[in-house]
Amino acid sequence: MARILITSAIPYINGIKHLGNLVGSQLPADLYARYMRQRGHEVMFICATDEHGTPAELAATKAGKPVEEFCAEMHAVQSEIADGFRLSFDHFGRSSSAQNHSLTQYFAGKLADNGFIQEISEKQVYSNADGRFLPDRYIEGTCPNCGYDKARGDQCENCTKQLDPTDLIDPRSAVSGSTDLEVRETKHLYLRQSQLKDRLDDWINSQEGWPVLTTSIAKKWLHDGDGLRDRGITRDLNWGVPVKRGTDEWPGMEGKVFYVWFDAPIEYIAGTAEWAEAKGLDDAAWRRWWRTDEGADDVRYVQFMGKDNVPFHTLSFPATIMGSGEPWKLVDYIKSFNYLNYDGGQFSTSQGRGVFMDQALSILPADYWRWWLLSHAPENSDAEFTWENFQSSVNKDLADVLGNLVSRVTKFCRSKFGEVVPEGGAWAEREAALIATLTAKTRAYEGFMDAMEVRKAAAELRSIWVAGNEYLQEAAPWSAFKTDPELAAAQIRLALNLIRVYAVLSRPFIPDASAAMLAAMGTEDDSWPDDMTAALSVLPAGHAFAVPEVLFAKITDEQREEWQERFSGTRD
Ligand SMILES: [Zn+2]
Repeated sequence: MARILITSAIPYINGIKHLGNLVGSQLPADLYARYMRQRGHEVMFICATDEHGTPAELAATKAGKPVEEFCAEMHAVQSEIADGFRLSFDHFGRSSSAQNHSLTQYFAGKLADNGFIQEISEKQVYSNADGRFLPDRYIEGTCPNCGYDKARGDQCENCTKQLDPTDLIDPRSAVSGSTDLEVRETKHLYLRQSQLKDRLDDWINSQEGWPVLTTSIAKKWLHDGDGLRDRGITRDLNWGVPVKRGTDEWPGMEGKVFYVWFDAPIEYIAGTAEWAEAKGLDDAAWRRWWRTDEGADDVRYVQFMGKDNVPFHTLSFPATIMGSGEPWKLVDYIKSFNYLNYDGGQFSTSQGRGVFMDQALSILPADYWRWWLLSHAPENSDAEFTWENFQSSVNKDLADVLGNLVSRVTKFCRSKFGEVVPEGGAWAEREAALIATLTAKTRAYEGFMDAMEVRKAAAELRSIWVAGNEYLQEAAPWSAFKTDPELAAAQIRLALNLIRVYAVLSRPFIPDASAAMLAAMGTEDDSWPDDMTAALSVLPAGHAFAVPEVLFAKITDEQREEWQERFSGTRD
C-alpha cells in the first residue's frame, strides 16, 4: 500500500466555475483519488478556495457585502457544487484559514532568514478617493499608442501594447472612476527566485516522465529572456494574510498583506492542517503528509492543474519550499491540462460564456458531465465542448452500451428466472474468451489510470463495456433459453456478475451509476477484479437482485437544441 497526496489547483473565490475549470484540475484529480483509494492506497485529497486578492475585494463590493462574508458564502456555494459533482475531497479548505495565515507567515520568515527575501521600494499609483493603492490592471485610461479609451494600466486590450500605468493618458481608478490619483513610494518584499534558478533547473531535470506540457512551460520561464525573475510577494491591500516574519512583526511592512500567488499554494499544506483540525487530530496527523522528516518520505505527491498554473507550481511554490531550507514535501508529478473550449469559442468566467457548474447540475446528473468531460479531457491539446458531441457521447457510451446492458440482462433474468442469480449450466469457450479479453483490458485500464492517461483510461473502460455487449450479442441467451435453458442460465449468471464488475471498474468515472448498479445487484462487495474469473463468480446462484431504474436517459434532439439556445449567450 502506498501513500498518495493529491492536490487540485484551488479555484478562485469570485464566482462559480465553468466546466473548463472543472476538467482542468478538480475532476481528473478526483478520478485519480477515487481510483487510488479503490486500489487500497492511503490517499489524502486536498482542494480549497483561493480567497485573497483584489478580484475578491471587487466582487464583494459588487455584491454589496464585506469581503469576509462574501468569501464565506462563496466557499459554501462552491463546496455544495463540488459535492454535487461528487468530488471526493478529504478536505475542501479556505486559503483565508488561520492555518494558512500562520504557515504563510512561517514560510516568509524562513525565506527571509535564509536570504531569499529582498525589500524593494517602488512607486505605485495611489487613489485618494478609494483610499488605497491600485494594482496596474485597476487603472484605466487612454492608450498612448492607439487612442483606445479603456486601456488598462498593464496592457491595452485593443492594440495589445504592454503599458505602465504612468503611460496612460487621463488615468482613472477602475474601482471608482476617480481621477484623483498620485504616485507614492511604497516598500515591498520580493522572493529572490533568481537565486534558486539552478536548483530549480536541476530539480526539474531530475524528474522522469513528467508531461511535456509541464516541463516545457517550466523551462520556458526558467530560460527565456532574462530567465527566472524575482517576484513581489506583498501588496498594499486590507484583505489577505498580514505580512509577518514568522510570528514577529515585520518593520516597515505594517498594513500590507502577502500577494495572493504566494499564499495560495501554501494552502495545500494548510488545507491538510484544516483537515486534521476538522477531524480532531493532532498536528502529527497532517505533518506526516508534508514533512519528509516526520513521515512523508514515502508519500507520492501528485498535483493537478490547468496549464496557466504550471509556472507557479513548477517554479514559485518549489522556490518557496526549497528556500525555506526545511524538509517539506516537493511535488513528485504534475499533471497539467490544456483548455476546454465552448462551442466555437472560449469558456469565460468574466464574460459568463459557456456552461457553469451549477447550471450543468441543474439540467443533468453529475455522471453525464463527468463521463463526457473526462473522456474528452484536454490532455494533449485543447478540446472543444459541443452539444452535438455531448449528446452523442452520452447516448452511445452511457445509454446504448452500459445502460442497455444492465437493463437487458436484469429484465431478461427477471422474466425467465426471477429476481435471483440463476443456477445450473456451465461456462464454455465463449465465456473463457470473454474472461481473457476482460482480463487484458482491465490490466490496460489499470495502466492508464496509474499513469493518469485520462482519455485512454476512458476509452479502455468503454471498450470493457463494449466487450460485454458483444458477448451478449453473440451468446444471445434469449435465443439459447429456448433450446438450452441451462446454458442461458450460466450466461446470465455471468452477465449479472459482469454488472457488479462494471460497477467497480466504472466508479472513478461515474460514481452514482456505480452505486446504483451495486445496489441493484444487492451487494456491497466492491472488490477490484484482480482475478476476472473469480470476480465473475462473486454473486452466487440464488443471490437476489433488483432491476434498476433506467441508469442513463438519452438526451433528445429537443433537449439538445433547447440547451444549445439557453447557453448560447452569457449568464446574467
Ligand atoms: Zn492601444
